[in-house]
Amino acid sequence: MTKVFKVALLPGDGIGPEVMVEALRVMDAIEKKYDVRFERTHANVGGAGIDNEGKALPESTVNICKAADAILFGSVGGPKWESLPPDERPERGALLPLRQIFGLYANLRPAIVFPSMTSASSLKEEIVAGGFNVMVVRELTGGIYFTQPKGIEGEGRNRIGIDTLHYSVPEIERIAHVAFVAARRRSKKVCSVDKANVLSSSVLWREIVTGISKEYPDVELSHMYVDNAAMQLVRRPKQFDVILCENMFGDILSDEAAMLTGSLGMLPSSSLAEGTFGMYEPSGGSAPDIAGQGIANPIAQILSTAMMLRYSFAMEEAANLIEKAVETVLEQGYRTIDIFQNRNGERLVDTKEMGEAIVKQIEAQPA
Ligand code: NAD
Repeated sequence: MTKVFKVALLPGDGIGPEVMVEALRVMDAIEKKYDVRFERTHANVGGAGIDNEGKALPESTVNICKAADAILFGSVGGPKWESLPPDERPERGALLPLRQIFGLYANLRPAIVFPSMTSASSLKEEIVAGGFNVMVVRELTGGIYFTQPKGIEGEGRNRIGIDTLHYSVPEIERIAHVAFVAARRRSKKVCSVDKANVLSSSVLWREIVTGISKEYPDVELSHMYVDNAAMQLVRRPKQFDVILCENMFGDILSDEAAMLTGSLGMLPSSSLAEGTFGMYEPSGGSAPDIAGQGIANPIAQILSTAMMLRYSFAMEEAANLIEKAVETVLEQGYRTIDIFQNRNGERLVDTKEMGEAIVKQIEAQPA
């Protein structure tokens, strides 16, 4: 029987709608190859939500998301809405409420350097030769960003700034499971990052993660202090598979890892809730500098679609097929402007041509 998955499509602003079109083409190609149907419903978000329905996250959009099995998100924001109060702006007004409403507690951000793209990396070629694929699994709803009490107390020079850092056992357990399950689908290694030499929350983190690892004997666990992890990422990124972090460490390390790839327009991400629901989106923003020109790189949106297939729909094989198609197209030299280096064999293409090349590869590969 044909499987049916409901997808809420939230293209958003800037390049969001342009790259979303290519992700839809990819979904069409997967439908032709597998016995699956993606029931898609478009909804406004971000600046598009403000302009069309008066709010960055309109009620109608929330309802469409609630009725869906997953959200495929584009990007939000742009100069047009920058003068609004921070809480009403596209980014804060849409992304934070979506995380809260859907309990998106696990953020997965792969940082991939494809073998044919090593020259784009900010690292020396000898360090990245052959490419690398690291994934940061970041706890997203706890830790120092959210724990109370926080604030500034007192008067004048006697003021103190307060932030508090709690992690409970269930919070650590559930994010650890996400990391181990993700590693099982990859190279079966988890490096848990903490600061257990100074932070009590990290001592507990290390103890609980070690306990959970016993349920995954096929996955190798190591521990690393965050300062060392920041250094090792630039020194020898290939040693990592899955990096498991609490919220703040993950915030910093996932940006560091992304920047090492040198190609923001190619990096997907996902935010997962308990169960199979998740929101999938490019790591980059709405790129207002190139919006409307049809030249944005659709690969981040397409790889986000692959993550949706893997994590929300359990379609591992189809996800691999999409990722392989992207890798092949890059090997063939297709480059959008952001990754074009005018090297031998490279061919400058626009958003649509890149999408079409990837679809052609999906069609050409055996299912
Ligand atoms: P950005 O990621 O939009 O752009 C940074 C640079 O990367 C730009 O030069 C842009 O052209 C390029 N770039 C990004 N994605 C690309 C792609 N797919 N193809 C080709 N080039 C690409 O970051 P920014 O300029 O700091 O922010 C622009 C807007 O996006 C702001 O309003 C910001 O708040 C918002 N933003 C939204 C999200 C989100 O929706 N999750 C994330 C980050 C920033």
